Amino acid sequence: MIKTEEALKIILGSVDSLDSETVDIIDSSGRVLAEDVYSDCDIPAFDYSAMDGYALKFSDTKGGSSESPVILEVIGELRAGAVSSSKIEDNQAIKIMTGAPIPEGADAVIMVENTRASGADVKILEEVKEGKNIRRAGEDIKNGDLVIQKGMLLNGAHAGMLAALGMPWIRVIRKPKVAILATGDEIVDIEEKIERGKVRNSNAYSLYSQVLTCGGIPVNKGIAKDEAGELRAKLKSCLDCDVILTSGGVSMGEYDLVKDVMVEMGMELKFWKVAIRPGKPLLFGVIGGKPFFGLPGNPVSSMVVFEIFLRPAILKILGQERDDRKEIEAVLEEDIEKKKGLRFFIRAQTQWRDGVYMTRTTGPQGSGILRSMVLANSLIILPEDEVYLEKGKKVSVRLLD
Ligand code: AMP
Ligand code: MG
Repeated sequence: MIKTEEALKIILGSVDSLDSETVDIIDSSGRVLAEDVYSDCDIPAFDYSAMDGYALKFSDTKGGSSESPVILEVIGELRAGAVSSSKIEDNQAIKIMTGAPIPEGADAVIMVENTRASGADVKILEEVKEGKNIRRAGEDIKNGDLVIQKGMLLNGAHAGMLAALGMPWIRVIRKPKVAILATGDEIVDIEEKIERGKVRNSNAYSLYSQVLTCGGIPVNKGIAKDEAGELRAKLKSCLDCDVILTSGGVSMGEYDLVKDVMVEMGMELKFWKVAIRPGKPLLFGVIGGKPFFGLPGNPVSSMVVFEIFLRPAILKILGQERDDRKEIEAVLEEDIEKKKGLRFFIRAQTQWRDGVYMTRTTGPQGSGILRSMVLANSLIILPEDEVYLEKGKKVSVRLLD
């Protein structure tokens, strides 16, 4: 039995980010950029007005005030998107809207609030400095700049920047296809009529959603009976995916066949059993270069194991080196007893109250009690060595949202 950190190290050491694919930038949020992005233009592309006002020569505004305005001749109007053919000479101005290119001869814009229109003229009520209210070509991005670095997790700002650069497509790390195979003679599909002794396949749905939420492409591969032949056939059908997950069949039972069948199929066994609760029987190996995770069948075990081990692995495969979950310190609102030697992941509700995080369990913690997960927004992480934690003690909590 190995510890959590060691298991995580082995897993992360066995997976790598995938190759890249091209996506529309509209779908780029949450993806990892697979190439450096350089600009081939200036942004903005031209000097333009940051204000509605008048483009003019700043030297012409000298001495202007509301008491004794300077009077300039207005020789035209410029809307955003338009280009002026006239050149501003001394004592002239062009009425200009935000976004319109600065006309030739002008070196400043006075905002309309500091002027008064007067027939064909404009009264200037304030001095302006050179360059006032002018946004310069290339002040955001210069032609040739490295704008977004490879490895960046893309968001809306990046999508906007790529659009501004005129790039409708971008290369990102491909999403892994994650096969999910449930195992167990008692497991039936949710559409099937349930008979005594049978259990609905809830794990496939929890895992499907977990894969989706961390950015993978889940592929439901159905249910395999606890029978070597069928298990082998269905496991083979999973090998077209980038990651393989099974649920159930990795404990000590006589019909827990997943490990043996996988090893027989050529999987290199990396570890079996981690010192955690829930989820101890976790099995991990590599087959044909692909990571294989044999998750324990208990619904809470499978979800917790996914959260602690699969999520970081899938994020790494997606090109994200860091786990994005927050681990915070919280104050226990109740006493908790635990077994020595195992790290416990207790389903909990954690809330920020009066300047501290307070945390309490979501009720019975059996690994079959899925409700404990349904009510949880976090996992309290209790160290291996502890056996009794008193109310009021500070504990580590992993937030699930
Ligand atoms: P196992 O790990 O196969 O020994 O299963 C442990 C427990 O989890 C048993 O009570 C199973 O019935 C239950 N279980 C296994 N697979 C699933 C599943 N896909 N959905 C819901 N419960 C399951
Ligand atoms: Mg089973």
